[in-house]
Amino acid sequence: MIRMSPMSKSILVTGGAGFIGSHLCQYLLEQGHEVICVDNFFTGTKNNIIPLMDYKTFEWMRHDIINPLTCEVDEIYNLACPASPVHYQYNAIKTVKTNVIGTLNMLGLAKRVKAKFLQASTSEVYGDPLEHPQKESYWGNVNPIGYRSCYDEGKRVAETLAVDYHRTNQVDIRIVRIFNTYGPRMLKDDGRVVSNFIVQALEGRDITIYGDGKQTRSFCFVDDLVKGMVSTMNCENLNTPVNLGNPNEFTILDLAYKVIQMTGSQSKIAYNPLPEDDPVRRQPDISLARSKIDFNPNTELEKGLEKTIQYFRTVI
Ligand code: NAD
Ligand code: UDP
Ligand code: UDP
Repeated sequence: MIRMSPMSKSILVTGGAGFIGSHLCQYLLEQGHEVICVDNFFTGTKNNIIPLMDYKTFEWMRHDIINPLTCEVDEIYNLACPASPVHYQYNAIKTVKTNVIGTLNMLGLAKRVKAKFLQASTSEVYGDPLEHPQKESYWGNVNPIGYRSCYDEGKRVAETLAVDYHRTNQVDIRIVRIFNTYGPRMLKDDGRVVSNFIVQALEGRDITIYGDGKQTRSFCFVDDLVKGMVSTMNCENLNTPVNLGNPNEFTILDLAYKVIQMTGSQSKIAYNPLPEDDPVRRQPDISLARSKIDFNPNTELEKGLEKTIQYFRTVI
């Protein structure tokens, strides 16, 4: 492998054409690394990676990770998996395959080429949590047979696989449990709450609140998250799960009012049924990330929403 510079690494990002993946690819390229983006374009788009094609150090490949892949790299960030409930429930079996067979393939690759491996896990491993805020030591409260299970249990098995490859094959793994992240390049119709509310507000349609809107989430701006992911990968001997997110907690109703006010929209609130197993409260305890990687997700919700609203104005 010919390197661009002695410090540069060759890095594989699966799901690199998706929302978080494309920001991660961009950040790694800006740091001088060679990036190979692998994506099956199920929810990712070429538009997300077109700006990256100006880098000579950027490569992309249409590939589904449920099929094995061979390439020589130093690090693997495994993000491939649809993240919005609408998309991961579209074909639940495929979601399980991506998380289980896909992660197995990427861990096998990491083992063979001795690459470091980071798994993009999720706060969903805590299910509808009975502990608040959620610490990494909490085992979760997950329904194994519900509509969200393909994703929640898929991600839990992916963590198990990563830890077992570490135990039995000495793969140098990282696991980040990502809490609700938002920002530019989310899909306009992917059903997640931040993109839904902004698009509805900009189009003057009703803001759809599921349930009474009193359920909470803690929203992290994508730039903060990406820095946390890269710092985690670069931190030595951090082979156990790490929460990454912004601990500022809001109700869904708070978010709706904020979006209406910031867009100056005339939209009204409309109440819809709450989906099955929708977690009531969610807030990360990020003391581990703060102490190990000096994680500081300091983008305030208003600031992050401003950038996201600006982005959606350009795509609508
Ligand atoms: P996204 O849907 O925008 O990105 C996922 C990407 O993976 C897409 O580009 C998609 O085309 C690709 N992909 C899906 N299945 C694939 C397969 N079998 N082979 C190859 N590529 C495949 O979602 P995102 O928000 O960018 O999420 C990225 C990762 O972070 C996911 O693993 C998700 O579970 C995790 N995560 C995200 C959040 C969040 O709030 N955004 C929260 C927790 C965890
Ligand atoms: N599909 C999906 N997620 C993906 C890729 C495809 O849900 O990441 C959908 C796709 O639209 C099709 C179905 O899953 O309806 C079958 O996909 P594929 O042929 O890849 O699955 P296989 O049966 O080969 O595992
Ligand atoms: N939600 C909502 N209206 C929407 C989309 C989502 O009220 O149009 C709610 C949803 O029921 C959940 C929260 O917002 O309580 C976050 O949903 P999202 O799908 O973004 O993420 P997740 O449930 O995976 O945290």
